[in-house]
Amino acid sequence: MSTENNLQAIIAHAKEYGFVFQSSEIYDGLSAVYDYGPYGSELKKNIKDYWWKSMTQMHENIVGIDAAIFMHPTTWKASGHVDNFSDPMIDNKDSKKRYRVDHLVEGFADQLKEKGEHDKANGLVASMEKMLAEDAFADLKKMIEEHKISCAVSGTCNWTDIRQFNLMFDTKLGSVTDDADTIYLRPETAQGIFVNFLNVQKSARMKVPFGIAQIGKAFRNEIVARQFIFRMREFEQMEMQFFVRPGTEGEWYKYWKDERMKWHLSLGLPQEKYRYHDHVKLAHYAKEACDIEFEFSFGFKEVEGIHSRSDFDLKQHQEYSKKKQQYFDAEINQNYIPYVIETSIGLDRMFLLVLSHAYQEETIHKEDGTTDSRTVLKIPAKLAPNKLAILPLTKKDGLPEIAKEIMNDCKQDFKCYYEEKDSIGKRYRRQDAIGTPFCVTIDHQTKEDNTVTIRHRDSMVQERIAIADLKNLVINSINQ
Ligand code: ATP
Repeated sequence: MSTENNLQAIIAHAKEYGFVFQSSEIYDGLSAVYDYGPYGSELKKNIKDYWWKSMTQMHENIVGIDAAIFMHPTTWKASGHVDNFSDPMIDNKDSKKRYRVDHLVEGFADQLKEKGEHDKANGLVASMEKMLAEDAFADLKKMIEEHKISCAVSGTCNWTDIRQFNLMFDTKLGSVTDDADTIYLRPETAQGIFVNFLNVQKSARMKVPFGIAQIGKAFRNEIVARQFIFRMREFEQMEMQFFVRPGTEGEWYKYWKDERMKWHLSLGLPQEKYRYHDHVKLAHYAKEACDIEFEFSFGFKEVEGIHSRSDFDLKQHQEYSKKKQQYFDAEINQNYIPYVIETSIGLDRMFLLVLSHAYQEETIHKEDGTTDSRTVLKIPAKLAPNKLAILPLTKKDGLPEIAKEIMNDCKQDFKCYYEEKDSIGKRYRRQDAIGTPFCVTIDHQTKEDNTVTIRHRDSMVQERIAIADLKNLVINSINQ
């Protein structure tokens, strides 16, 4: 299946089976804003919970917070977002279409690669990164023109100058618009952590090194929103700031780079689909930075960023708020502003990663020589929306009663789904399509010997087990 078809098939599947809907669809939707349906919201919550647990439960020195989306406007002056949170963009004068410059050049480089011109493509991207790092916009425009990089809509190279476009949404706080203050919808969750650094450190009695984790909404007025939920204007981030003693940031950066990759692989996702991308263009305060990239159907793309941010953010807040942001380290008897390692992952992007990797269209070769097909979501059991589907073979003979008993026993521990309509084959297919790892069928033999047939989603293998063993089998697979 082609790249485009693959993504289109996933988008259609996500809609049909209640994972993701276009926001306000009945009004023709709102660009780059999406809603999560019954199974989507479960999957999203399971990803969140898995991340939250890995941070705040598996690390004794990390605690969580839940800060507000609105923050004092000075926060964004201090953080540099008012002045610097912008993307260089360029408009095509004929089509009026606006592009992010890096996307335009990377798209052209991809075309070169398809023609086998890898060196030229890599050289072009490297030159672009260097020019962006130096804000050499006039040179970059010249390079775009020299290579005749054209607009996909008009086909022309009639470009405006490259300009910066701030990505923050603003709004007014207060009832009378005239004298209300302009505030911003936060473009990242991290600043809520920085401004609460001392509140958390003191109230939870944390000692450096320690981390603060947060999951929450962020908003960016992205110039080019594309690839479904990969780039949205309203999205969720899962961020953790880890505060360390100055001088130890190098080793902690390595630790978190490694630790975060392990988290991804612990979901059973294949190592060869992942790679690190070390940043060439570093923010002036950053010491080191890299992205964890995953190979989507549309290429290797960033899912998570790991940044060694020095003491930049706390220092800035100290300066703008005039409140000391220092920590007293009793071990070395010194006051200092801690250095920070940040891990920042997009929840929606992780959702797309899980969904698109799980999505498979399979041909089944049956024993009688005929073939059949199925669409299956091979979602890791711990993330699957439903863990167990409970299916009585018929609606009579006391089978639903036994099925309901199993349901009542299991639903305390994990999410179950009960269904008695349609043939077993059809019911299996529906559960495959929403990624349920186990189906259990209750039949007449169950009444005689208290056994049921359990069917495994990925292998489609069926086996007979005792009802008494069912719950543990599912729990073990979720905890794996
Ligand atoms: P990109 O280069 O893709 O715009 P970024 O480098 O600006 O991303 P960060 O500011 O490092 O991203 O944000 C951390 C994470 O938040 C990203 O790795 C990504 O997973 C997620 N993220 C950022 N912007 C969006 C968006 N518009 N929609 C969905 N997720 C996003």
